[in-house]
Amino acid sequence: MGKVIGIDLGTTNSVVAAFTGRRPSVVESFAGERTMPSMVSFLEDGKRAIGHAAMKCQVTNPEHTIYSIKRFMGRRHSEVDREEKLVPYEVVGKPQEFVQVRIGKKLYTPQQVSALILQELKAQAEGFLGEPVDGAVITVPAYFNDAQRQATKDAGEIAGLQVKRIINEPTAAALAYGLDGQESRRIVIFDFGGGTFDLSALEIRGGDFKVIGVHGNTHLGGDDFDQRIIDIVADDYARNHRFDIREHPMALQRLKQAAQHAKVELSQREVANISLPFITVDGNGPKHLDYNLTKERFEAVCSDLFDDTRKACQELIWEAGGLKDVEVVLVGGSTRMPKIQEIACEVFKTDRLNKSLNPDEVVALGAAKLGGVIQGDLHNVNLMDVVSHSMGVETAGGGMSKIVAKNTPIPTSVRRVYSTPSNNQTSVPINVLEGESKEAKENRTLGLFQLKGIRRAPAGVPQIEVEFAIDADGILQVKATDKDTGKSQEIVIQGGSGLERGAKERMRRDTQEQAPKQPERAAGDLRQHAEKVLDDMKDWLEHNGEMMAQRKRIELGTVLTKLQKAVAKNNESAIRTNLKKLDELAKVHKKAG
Ligand code: ADP
Ligand code: MG
Repeated sequence: MGKVIGIDLGTTNSVVAAFTGRRPSVVESFAGERTMPSMVSFLEDGKRAIGHAAMKCQVTNPEHTIYSIKRFMGRRHSEVDREEKLVPYEVVGKPQEFVQVRIGKKLYTPQQVSALILQELKAQAEGFLGEPVDGAVITVPAYFNDAQRQATKDAGEIAGLQVKRIINEPTAAALAYGLDGQESRRIVIFDFGGGTFDLSALEIRGGDFKVIGVHGNTHLGGDDFDQRIIDIVADDYARNHRFDIREHPMALQRLKQAAQHAKVELSQREVANISLPFITVDGNGPKHLDYNLTKERFEAVCSDLFDDTRKACQELIWEAGGLKDVEVVLVGGSTRMPKIQEIACEVFKTDRLNKSLNPDEVVALGAAKLGGVIQGDLHNVNLMDVVSHSMGVETAGGGMSKIVAKNTPIPTSVRRVYSTPSNNQTSVPINVLEGESKEAKENRTLGLFQLKGIRRAPAGVPQIEVEFAIDADGILQVKATDKDTGKSQEIVIQGGSGLERGAKERMRRDTQEQAPKQPERAAGDLRQHAEKVLDDMKDWLEHNGEMMAQRKRIELGTVLTKLQKAVAKNNESAIRTNLKKLDELAKVHKKAG
């Protein structure tokens, strides 16, 4: 069997890992990156830039650069009011339709955009492993519903992957830590990412994972902290220069990236400097921005975000009926903020935070471990995932009759018998619901179908058996049978994710056909590598430049300028030549130093 990779398809960043040798390892891209921004930029020439390359395009091409697409996966337009306001690209569809994004004249489903990200990750994994990849385990947040899971699976298939399993991110994290052993324990997976804060309390006993509580805030993440920095810097600048950066998309994009950089720096230092030369030009010439942000100030302006973090933790504790002696596992980039770690210790009353694995990588590593099990390289791993939402059918009175309760281990199959509410009824509508409310209308309809051909009989006589089968990916299949006639009808939730089989196949072909061919990919990789070198060298020069002899500095500067020009012109041989020159200069410098 070919390799089965593990993919953490994140809102902000994605990571791919593979089980090689005897353990899971994170795949490094050609440029040495271990995480990839979950971003796709649609360029004017019809090409697309993915990941780090897309991030570079964000400043110049904000409306056509898609990020946070995960927020739109398997969602109807009426469900994404808030998300829509957060992004600069256009989200379309009638209220009850699954959303799409508009790029110029074309519409793309979130599945297609995610597929482009997955396709890139697949290509990187193939480069890293030196062999083709055919299957993948993809992770989703524990709270993802049926439609969101189905959409994720579709995205994998469009990308040309066989999706072997969809597993919950917290389960994957626990698996990466090897918390699947025999010993019984309680853990909290504390996952603070870019856009969401997800908490899961798990009880692990004899290799079974039992979820005892899931809580979080889908509108709290690293981005909110960046926004606070943007606001204080922009306010300060507006006060002094009568220029509001927030009203100028390109300047704002630069500030956004700088703000995030500063936030990351403040996880290690007391002060961060934000410097944006040429932020604007007025009658007196170019204007620069220079701002020093202290950690103290940063934490003060974010105090309500820290309060929200505490609150979500307390709600989890409440939901799980109190949590004592739990092990807290840190996942997600935002858990690197010292204040967040402090809060985790404080609310969970612990001084041990589990952070020996890189919080950016742990979910993908867990998924790869499951990949190892599937490809037959790893044994003795028990994995039990659970249903994330209760599922059932609508009753005659407008109530919801639960068939499968939240947190039931999967796969599972449950049968219930119902009858007709009126005399001589020959068909019954079956409204398949998902959610926790007793009222049908407050839950989400997954699918609606009619069971026809019921023999005429008084109300309450016909026996209709409804079977809910949920597979290991948490995806539901419903079957209704009239026990009298034996007539049955099965539905794979109609348009559960908004994609018919034919449409999915078409998207898969399009995505494959437009995938960059090998030489084109290599050129893209080379350019990306050169861009990274340029960034690093500029950064290095800025901090260490004075220590170099002036002659050397000029020499280095000249090569860098040439490299930059070569990158701008996409001149492959010039990129290679100048990279080589840089390499030689670095060697000489090392020897001299
Ligand atoms: P997601 O799961 O949403 O894709 P990640 O787990 O990759 O997200 O987390 C991304 C977030 O983590 C971003 O907001 C990023 O700024 C933040 N982050 C990464 N490293 C640090 C750090 N050292 N300090 C503070 N925040 C960080
Ligand atoms: Mg994540």
